[in-house]
Amino acid sequence: MKISLPSGLVDKLNNLQGDTVSYCVPLSELSYWKIGGIAQCVVEPNSIDCLQEALKISSKFPEVPKLIIGDCSNLLFDDKGFDGVLIKIGNALSEISFNGNEIYCEAGAWVPEVAYHSYRRELSGIEHICGIPGRIGGLVYMNGGSQRRGILENVKSVVVLDQKGNKNTVTSDEIVHSYRKSPFQGTPVIVAAVTLELQKSSRSIVRNTMRGILASRRKKFPRKLPNCGSVFLSNPKMYDVVGPPGYAIEKAGLKGVRKGNAQLSPLHANFIVNLGGATSADVLHLIGLARNTVKEQTGFSMDCEVRYIRPNGEMMQAHKFTDSMAIE
Ligand SMILES: Cc1cc2nc3c(=O)[nH]c(=O)nc-3n(C[C@H](O)[C@H](O)[C@H](O)COP(=O)(O)OP(=O)(O)OC[C@H]3O[C@@H](n4cnc5c(N)ncnc54)[C@H](O)[C@@H]3O)c2cc1C
Repeated sequence: MKISLPSGLVDKLNNLQGDTVSYCVPLSELSYWKIGGIAQCVVEPNSIDCLQEALKISSKFPEVPKLIIGDCSNLLFDDKGFDGVLIKIGNALSEISFNGNEIYCEAGAWVPEVAYHSYRRELSGIEHICGIPGRIGGLVYMNGGSQRRGILENVKSVVVLDQKGNKNTVTSDEIVHSYRKSPFQGTPVIVAAVTLELQKSSRSIVRNTMRGILASRRKKFPRKLPNCGSVFLSNPKMYDVVGPPGYAIEKAGLKGVRKGNAQLSPLHANFIVNLGGATSADVLHLIGLARNTVKEQTGFSMDCEVRYIRPNGEMMQAHKFTDSMAIE
C-alpha cells in the first residue's frame, strides 16, 4: 500500500532518533477488538524526549490527523483505517521507579505490572486496577479502575505534554475528576508520566484483595474472544432503578444478539465480542441497537466508555457516532 502522508513529514519521521516508525500498519494487529483498516503511520517513542520530538514534528503538519494511543484496549478503529500518525505509548516508554509510598510510572507502564509492583512493595490503594489491560497513561486519561473506583484517586501528579511537546506537571489539587472522567478528556493533552501515592499495607492484605478482584473478573468477563471490555458506562441513576448496563441489555432481550461477526456476549451483555472478522460497522450497529432499545424500554440512556476513531482522526464516545446512524 502507498503511504499518503506529506513527504516532508515522512522524511522528518524517518530521521527521528530513538523512535520506532512503521508505515501502513494493520489496526487489527494493534487493537484489542482486532478490528480496523490500515494506519498510515505508527510512531513508538522510547523516551519522553523522543515523544516530545515526535510531537514537535507532527505539530508542523496540522492537516495530518494525529492521535495518542496506548494498547488500544478501549478503542474501535474504522474499517477504512486511520489517515495519519498514531503515537503509541507502550513498552518502549514504561519505566517504573519507587520513592517511599510513591510509584513513578512512565505513561507506557503496563497496568497489571504497576499493580504487581504495588503488591511487591506492600503498598495499598490501587488493588482495583489489577487485571485491567492497557497502559497507565490510557488508564489516567480514562480515569479507569474497578470496584467503582478510579486511578485518579491515587494520582499525586502527572507529567503532561502539549501538542508541540512542551512539558508541564499538574498536581492532584488541579486534577478534578469523577467516575471515568478526567480533565484530560476532550483536550489535546498527552500524559507522559504519572506519580501514584499509596499507603503502606502488608503483602498478604494486598495480595488477598487482588486475588478476590481477579477471581471475580475471571468469572464475569468473556476471556477467549477479542473485546474491548465494558462497552457502556454504568449510569448511577439507571443502576438504582434498572441495574448495570449488562443487566439492562440482557433484560432488553439482546444478550447473544449478533450483527455480522460481532456479538453482544452471551456471558456478559455489556461486552461485544469479535467472533472472527467483525467489522467496525458491525460493532457500531450493536452499540446503537443496545443503546436505543434500553432507552425505549427504561427511559435511561447508556453512554459509551469505548471510543470510536474515524479515519480523519476524530475520536468520540462511540454512542455519539451511532446516534447519527439509522439502526434497524
Ligand atoms: C478485557 C478488558 C477489560 C477491561 N476492564 C476495564 C476495567 O475494569 N476498568 C476500566 O476502567 N477499563 C477497563 N478496560 C478498558 C481499558 O483497558 C482501560 O481504559 C485502559 O486503561 C486503557 O488503556 P490503553 O493503553 O489501552 O488506552 P487506549 O485504549 O489505547 O486509549 C484509550 C484513550 O486514552 C487516550 N490515551 C491513551 N494513552 C494516552 C496518553 N499517554 N496520554 C493521553 N491520552 C492517552 C487515547 O487517545 C484514548 O482516547 C478493559 C478493557 C478490556 C479489553
